[in-house]
Parts: sequence; C-alpha cells; structure tokens
Amino acid sequence: MDIKLKCKCGAVTGVATNITPKNGNRIVCCCSDCQAFAQHLGRQGDTLDEFGGTEIFQTSQAQVSIKKGAEHLRALRLTSKGLTRWYTDCCDTPVANTINANFPFAGLIHSFISIKGDRTPALGPVSAYVQTQHAIGTPTYPHSAKKFPLGVTLKVLHKIVVWKAKGMQTPSVFFDDEGRPVSKPVVLGENS
Ligand SMILES: [Zn+2]
Ligand SMILES: [Zn+2]
Repeated sequence: MDIKLKCKCGAVTGVATNITPKNGNRIVCCCSDCQAFAQHLGRQGDTLDEFGGTEIFQTSQAQVSIKKGAEHLRALRLTSKGLTRWYTDCCDTPVANTINANFPFAGLIHSFISIKGDRTPALGPVSAYVQTQHAIGTPTYPHSAKKFPLGVTLKVLHKIVVWKAKGMQTPSVFFDDEGRPVSKPVVLGENS
C-alpha cells in the first residue's frame, strides 16, 4: 500500500511506497532525544503522546519519496554523532530519523504520515514502546519495555540487513549521490 506523506501546512508532500504492516516496524520511542527534537520544533503538542512518546514507522529510505516541497527539508542532530533528524522549515513538521546514506533505515514520524484515523490497518500495531525510562509520568502503555527490547532490535536489524542487500538506501530523498545530507545538519548541542 502507498501511504501519503504530508507536512502540517501541505507545502511538502510525498509517498511511502509498498508499505505493509510486515515490511516495517511501528514503535513508540520515549527517549529524551526524540522529545527534545519535538520540543525544539515547538511541535511537542501534536508529536508527543501524553507520556512523551513519539510514534515512528521504521522503513527504508528507498520507500520514501517526496513529490513536492523537497527544498523545505532540513536536518538537525542533537549531538554530533546522533541520528540525523529531518523536519520541514515551512511549518516545523517532524519528518523522519535517519542514520546515514549507507543505512537504508528511515524512521518516519507519525506527524508526517497522512492517514486519517486508525493507523493500525496500514502500519500494523505498535510493536514496542521503547526507552520508557525517559517517559513523562508513569506510562500506561499496553506493553511498555525499557530501552529497545531484544526481539524488536533484532527485527529491525534483520530488516536493515535485508534492505541493505536490496540496495534500499537509495534512491534517497535525504542524501545525495555522494552520500551527503541534502540539507546540512545543524548540531544543536554545538549551537546552544
Ligand atoms: Zn509545511
Ligand atoms: Zn527516540
């Protein structure tokens, strides 16, 4: 199934192609970096759930395409070695997390996924609530787990190996042919 992607203001639109509940992994991450990213953009209100969790659908870069407004993509890192986190500069919508050009992995953030109503039929159920030690308050998630549970970690690693074997780090909307981010990431820790 192809899933529409759209920033809040609509200047940036795209498609996640061939998405099934099985070929990706839907998680909620409560880590302090994901929270800081949403807060930096001023989008914590509609990005984070009541416990500070961010819902992410982990897929491959090759499955993410931008139809319109790619020039609005911006990147930041919370630390120099952290994930490259993408957002739009038109309306500060969190878009995705990537590792680098060589890793097929792209974690699409729900704020950029345009699905009306329940996301479960398209994306599958949330497979894990991770990093809940950083959650706000006392999370009452259905099956909360600390850090990344081994099963989920292995599932994602396995997918990354398969995606890598299929060359699904390209084409990428986030990195150019030389592997450079299409927008130079700002490292927050070094600016503040
Ligand atoms: Zn926008
Ligand atoms: Zn996180």
